[in-house]
Amino acid sequence: MYSDIEISQKNKPIKITDIAHKLGLSGNDLDLYGNYKAKIHWDAIKKAKHNSKLGKLILVTSISPTPAGEGKTTISIGLGDAINNQLHKKTIIALREPSLGPVFGLKGGATGGGYAQVVPMEDINLHFTGDMHALTCAIDTLAALVDNYIYQNNECNLDPNSILLKRGIDVNDRTLRKIIIGQGSKFNGIERPASFAITVANELMAILCLSKDINDLKYRIGNILVGFSTTNKPIYVHDLGFEGSIAALLGDALKPNLVQTLEKTPTLIHGGPFANIAHGANSIIATNLALHLSDYVLTEAGFGADLGGQKFMDFVSDHLEKTPDAVVIVATVRALKYQHEKSTTNLANENIESLTAGFVNLKRHMHNMKRYNIPVIVLINKFDTDTDAELRTLQELIRAEGFESEIVNYHDLGSKGGIVAAQKVIDLADNNTKEIIKTYDPTDNIKAKIEKIAKNIYHATNVVYSEKAEKHLENIKKLGKDDLPPIMAKTQISFTDDKKQLGAPDNFTLHVKNLSLKNGAGFIVVYTGNIVDMPGLPKKPAALNIDIDNDGKISGLF
Ligand code: ADP
Ligand code: MG
Repeated sequence: MYSDIEISQKNKPIKITDIAHKLGLSGNDLDLYGNYKAKIHWDAIKKAKHNSKLGKLILVTSISPTPAGEGKTTISIGLGDAINNQLHKKTIIALREPSLGPVFGLKGGATGGGYAQVVPMEDINLHFTGDMHALTCAIDTLAALVDNYIYQNNECNLDPNSILLKRGIDVNDRTLRKIIIGQGSKFNGIERPASFAITVANELMAILCLSKDINDLKYRIGNILVGFSTTNKPIYVHDLGFEGSIAALLGDALKPNLVQTLEKTPTLIHGGPFANIAHGANSIIATNLALHLSDYVLTEAGFGADLGGQKFMDFVSDHLEKTPDAVVIVATVRALKYQHEKSTTNLANENIESLTAGFVNLKRHMHNMKRYNIPVIVLINKFDTDTDAELRTLQELIRAEGFESEIVNYHDLGSKGGIVAAQKVIDLADNNTKEIIKTYDPTDNIKAKIEKIAKNIYHATNVVYSEKAEKHLENIKKLGKDDLPPIMAKTQISFTDDKKQLGAPDNFTLHVKNLSLKNGAGFIVVYTGNIVDMPGLPKKPAALNIDIDNDGKISGLF
């Protein structure tokens, strides 16, 4: 079998204008970035809203991630291709833009795998249409404007030690977690401790993904809490007047990007917040546009169903024109065995006992998703090493819990790798008449919301707040913002805040270490355990495999 990038490079894509044509869009509706990438114009987005019939929304989520690989993006793409090309329904896939941090770090690219990929994968995984760079630039311009404001006249008496904004870079660089800026003479500005977060974890990324249009973008940027005055008055970006210029930097980045799969299914790739430290879904603009332009929309929520899945159901769907019509949980035999074995060494060997023991992880995610009252189906992403006995066992375990499942292999076979599964998924979506039931009530206070997520989704027995967390909570209350929803920052590896606890642990405490008000995005980030918003690189980063030859051909992206 060829590598992902080899398969992608053998593929002949069609012109992006032809992909747009399938959606009823003309060349005038696009800003072309070469032949195979385009941004969609505001006029076309507005025009699409006239089509009041919305497509069905299918959310793809998964079991807890392991180094064994699960395949949410691969399944989202393969399922989209199957619905589009095998069932001949008008389909759009809406995905996040990869961050360079994981591309060069541990995880690799985020454009699917095997015969279920989006192209051009090199571009999408590297610089794409420049959205990430525009965001990084906007983040750092805002930070520089604020530091300059203090250095110059500081009319608002902004206390330099109260500044909440972080600088940003789309690189996993642990050395930037804590820095001192302004060192040296006073001409270098005010000296103070500062820090970087990875671009995708910054509030501006969340704002880009949640804004409805440019006015909303500007309004949200204006509402970002910068810090406090020396008399403890909150200072927002609109108090300093920077919202217009920062919005101008992001104007193009706010337009969704159109690409295609290997099988020519239209795909919107736009916005890329992580699901462990941010809200984990692609932009609202892209998903809403997809709902207006097609009959079926596939979208992926990041990491496991406890993170991206929970956030999509409880938070993201409030911003969309509709809530999901069906939920797909991706599981693999290998990853479930890993949940028990905690090692990748023997995953290629048949082991019904460890599969059965590791099934507890999937079981909890299935029941958690069912709480939302939307139909759920498990798609088992088949790997070459899975045996018939293992696949049969897993399907029986799923059935015994009262859930449906299908085995799919879009990775090896493209859209033909799961036609029955695709039909089942659209039948579930078409026949759904149920309303979503959320984990918490909007009127619950923030601690009650966090407790409901901790108890009902993570299955923690209690939640303990650090002194720092209590202090920040007090400040958030004083600002009258404690009714905003929580966005949990938690390790993706475990239901708990401790990444060593695999499977489905019970009887544990969730430790809230800190809270951070994201007033422009409209949520409160709740940091649990030792989660950080700037990842580091692993011992052997994926960068070691990436190369380019003298003809400009890139290799080693996966
Ligand atoms: P996720 O979105 O859940 O992080 P991806 O879809 O990006 O997962 O897949 C992670 C990796 O696993 C990719 O490199 C992909 O090629 C590989 N992969 C996915 N499904 C399969 C499969 N059925 N067989 C072999 N490799 C697979
Ligand atoms: Mg993915």
